[in-house]
Amino acid sequence: MSHHPVIIIGSGPAGLTAAIYTARANLAPLVIEGEPSSTSDQPGGQLMLTTEVENFPGFPNGIMGPELMVNFREQAMRFGAEFVTEKVTAIDFSERPFRAWVRNVEYTADAIIVSTGAQSLMLGLPEEQHLLGHGLSTCATCDGFFFRGHEIAVVGGGDSAIEEASFLTKFASKVTLIHRRDSLRASKIMQDRALSNPKITMHWNATVTALHGTDTLVGATVTDVNTGEESLLPVTGVFVAIGHRPNTDLFKGVLDMEDNGYLITRPGSTYTNIDGVFACGDVQDHTYRQAITAAGSGCMAAIDTERWLEAQHG
Ligand code: NAP
Repeated sequence: MSHHPVIIIGSGPAGLTAAIYTARANLAPLVIEGEPSSTSDQPGGQLMLTTEVENFPGFPNGIMGPELMVNFREQAMRFGAEFVTEKVTAIDFSERPFRAWVRNVEYTADAIIVSTGAQSLMLGLPEEQHLLGHGLSTCATCDGFFFRGHEIAVVGGGDSAIEEASFLTKFASKVTLIHRRDSLRASKIMQDRALSNPKITMHWNATVTALHGTDTLVGATVTDVNTGEESLLPVTGVFVAIGHRPNTDLFKGVLDMEDNGYLITRPGSTYTNIDGVFACGDVQDHTYRQAITAAGSGCMAAIDTERWLEAQHG
């Protein structure tokens, strides 16, 4: 068993910013950073799955997502943050010190920062793994700029899909919105916006059933859900916007969360319903979902934690 003033669960921009700040505040954070996944050989959150990041301030020429996360991590290590490259398998926040387990190994902490992030729901196609970041994207704000003058597709029928499709018309020459039904789930005002946009073409009652391209995406197979008829859409970009899922299974019944699983934090802060447990980044934000906003809330969590710990000991 090892005890730390602060344990940070998760290692995206939120968790690693919290690690930098708590380490510099001499709180010797332990970051339980997660483990390699099928789509990434290192933990580090969603930026590990992107290619170039052009909108993170401070990098006028852009930076690759994985490189940015390595930089975050090194910066945290420089100030003494420690890392465990595993996933937390169980927690007990019912009393202090708080407890977290990685299988049989127990860690205790005076304060916890939860930054486990969220994941974009995907279509479940095998090609997604090698094409993500190479024509396949889950973030129009991040990647739209790379598709200037291209023909692209967006999958989904909710507000996110409409928002992404509308945003992408600033860059793309044509956006095909592929939805599995014949009516949109999105709010009326968003629907009107999409349906009246001359650059957006609706493809109703259809799903993407295959993606094509070895190094980069060159097209998608679209299948009519009623007839089974297949057609090839020659697009260089496919944006999947079928929803997100916060990584909060571990905290069910412990931390307050919305019906959709996002953790609830006290407005304007990172306090959860449990004193001494803080949450930051996409796990508690379904509105902005940007690396920079996640990093900002990681900083808030570190400062909230530091002040809360001071108050306990004072
Ligand atoms: P959502 O509302 O859950 O919509 C997901 C869409 O993806 C639905 O149209 C769904 O189809 C489709 N879908 C789900 N799984 C699919 C699959 N496997 N294959 C093909 N299509 C699939 O998610 P969201 O659009 O991300 O929105 C999440 C929440 O954020 C909502 O409450 C939304 O209002 C809110 N939001 C608001 C704004 C805004 O107001 N500006 C912007 C973005 C998001 P079905 O319709 O057939 O289920």
